Amino acid sequence: MKLVNSISEMQNIGLSAIVGGQKLAFVPTMGFFHDGHLSLMRWAKEHADEVVVSLYVNPAQFAPNEDLDSYPRDIERDMELARDIGVDHMFFPSTRDLYPAGFDTWVEVPGLSRTLCGRSRPQHFRGVSTIVCKLLNIVRPFMAVFGQKDRQQLLIIEKMVKELNIPVLIEGRPTCREADGLAMSSRNSYLSTEQRNLAPHIYQGLRIIKDEVLSGNTNPLKLEQNLKEYYLHNIPGSEIDYIKIVDANTLEQPDLAGKNSFMAVAVRLGRARLIDNIVLG
Ligand code: AMP
Repeated sequence: MKLVNSISEMQNIGLSAIVGGQKLAFVPTMGFFHDGHLSLMRWAKEHADEVVVSLYVNPAQFAPNEDLDSYPRDIERDMELARDIGVDHMFFPSTRDLYPAGFDTWVEVPGLSRTLCGRSRPQHFRGVSTIVCKLLNIVRPFMAVFGQKDRQQLLIIEKMVKELNIPVLIEGRPTCREADGLAMSSRNSYLSTEQRNLAPHIYQGLRIIKDEVLSGNTNPLKLEQNLKEYYLHNIPGSEIDYIKIVDANTLEQPDLAGKNSFMAVAVRLGRARLIDNIVLG
């Protein structure tokens, strides 16, 4: 596995792949790998000639009061895991190179970025769209792979790529979960033992609501209220950031919960802000 720090070197690798007719797949990450990250890399490896993984904790997507400085990091372990999977290139760009003094170009998808996570993290998706656009321009992969755990992020990236005519396929992959249903996340490492024992209720509650939808309750507001009550009862000490049923394409509230909608939640548990979602219908 080749380690790449410089943007121009990474651009040369991407360009050489295009010229040589090699299919290069790309997995952008912020590191501290878990099986969710690794599943994206494995899938990329099976569907491409070469795989590039980037590891960059992007300051532009963190607000000043968020966990940029304390975000978990273990680069040595990440490199070993990626090497075991057969990742070909690991890209570690620096903030100095990505955002040099005077940097002032931003990519925004405002409509999809205002709701759900965008409400409590107003600049977050501007930071995400900008860094993903930059990384796609640097790596120039034929395909980039993202997780459906961050379903809003995936929709925003799909729209950005389509509307800016970026020549890349976007592949969204299913959420990897712990045995008890908790969605894997680097931020799970913030949880105390007690919080970790409560956290599976985030997904269990989503499953219960999905069953309600399947048995005929399709009133979004009622379903949201039911999940709120479930969380208040089963995850004491947590703070609900949002619980929302949204249209799977527009993220607007649908008249009925069902086929083309999903339910998304963000819950704060101690230091961790955990997100999850489930497709309804
Ligand atoms: P992150 O390092 O958290 O920015 O995540 C990097 C990529 O991994 C993103 O595309 C995420 O959506 C994806 N990802 C994070 N958690 C999971 C998970 N539990 N299952 C599948 N993909 C995930």
